[in-house]
Amino acid sequence: DAAAPAEAPAAATETARPVPAVLGADLEVPVKGGRLVRYANLDYAASAPCLEPVSAAVTAALPAYSSVHRGAGYASQLTTARYEQARHTVRAFVGARPSDAVIFTRNTTDATNLLARCLPAGTTVVVFDTEHHAALLPWRDAVRLAPPAFPGEAVRAADEALAAIDGPKLLVVTAASNVTGELWPIAALAHIAHRHGARILVDAAQLVPHRQLNLTALDLDYVAFSGHKLYAPFGAGALVGRGDWLAGGEPYLKGGGAVRAVGEAPERAPEWHEDPEPRHEAGTPNVLGAIALAAACDALTATGWTPLVREEERLLARLRAGLAAIEGVRELTLWGKDHPRVGIVSFTVDGHAAREVAEALSGEYGIGVRDGKFCAHPFVRHLLGTADGGCEDGTASAVRASIGIGTTEEHVDRLVEALRVIVGR
Ligand code: PLP
Repeated sequence: DAAAPAEAPAAATETARPVPAVLGADLEVPVKGGRLVRYANLDYAASAPCLEPVSAAVTAALPAYSSVHRGAGYASQLTTARYEQARHTVRAFVGARPSDAVIFTRNTTDATNLLARCLPAGTTVVVFDTEHHAALLPWRDAVRLAPPAFPGEAVRAADEALAAIDGPKLLVVTAASNVTGELWPIAALAHIAHRHGARILVDAAQLVPHRQLNLTALDLDYVAFSGHKLYAPFGAGALVGRGDWLAGGEPYLKGGGAVRAVGEAPERAPEWHEDPEPRHEAGTPNVLGAIALAAACDALTATGWTPLVREEERLLARLRAGLAAIEGVRELTLWGKDHPRVGIVSFTVDGHAAREVAEALSGEYGIGVRDGKFCAHPFVRHLLGTADGGCEDGTASAVRASIGIGTTEEHVDRLVEALRVIVGR
């Protein structure tokens, strides 16, 4: 209960706090005919709404903020303390090792690109074609593996690919697919990577809003994620992981904060910080973004994963059962309908373009979903069985519904009912 002591172990505090509310739950949006209806946000995988405690933490920080790591003034010291506390919170949230770097980035894309700049010379990256573009595209030398037919095949394919590579290597894999929500066998993949002397980067953008992640227990080298998918506003994400490659890489941005000393003579090289955090966080950082991200981590931890996962699975099962009962609605899955997944479902509707369906859901029912290829073009094409072609042209696209804190049965039922009507047209 709420009186549980702060030092109580996580299991004892599992149901310590009620699930926090999301902002905008009573938002009303116009639909056809000029009516206003309650917005049914089923697009959490794109950006999740802000939690109330996140909003409160940002509001509390606003009256006394100043630049971090620079000023002697009270506001500056307070802001520095809050920023570093946020780093500490993020470290704990993903179960990082004490030696790991926690670098605040703009988002997951920024985090993967940062790591790409820091790879030791000659590093070969192995990546599956199932990845989001943020994890698929930043690498110069990448071996791309076809979507595996089952989880064990992913491990086998990674094993074979990594065995054939000399020199430094990095395996990049998602923890939960942004297209199907399916969970990837990241522990087994980390094990295989390490057996070949490789490192593993896990794109946790879609996992951390839904499941606890422990980098140490899973023996992951790097994880990347975004605050705006984790119930915080836009602009802050994190790259967490081993410091040595990051300390060796060129500073991501060059400027104040990343440099220890700058001489007068232009030929004298600046002395860059070796610690990864200052080295890659040049300029005034997004302090409020970091505070928001950390507040979201705190709110989820305080609520506990058990009630969150239980409720998500209940609503997800209701949604999937509803979709399955509509003839012509086909759920996309790589590893079968029974493979565990987070609250994301993509589907097609026979005879209707994804864009048409998404627009009807929004314009007639006030339901927000995403349509397209979800920044995962090779994967969606694979799932749809279509060839290379136009990108977001609507002919080879799917609709994606995604849920989280704040999703209600009414949202789910409204979507299912609306699809039933759309399919019948
Ligand atoms: N990885 C996955 C699995 C995602 O779903 C997304 C966002 O859709 C990203 C990476 C990129 O996140 P961001 O746009 O915040 O950089």
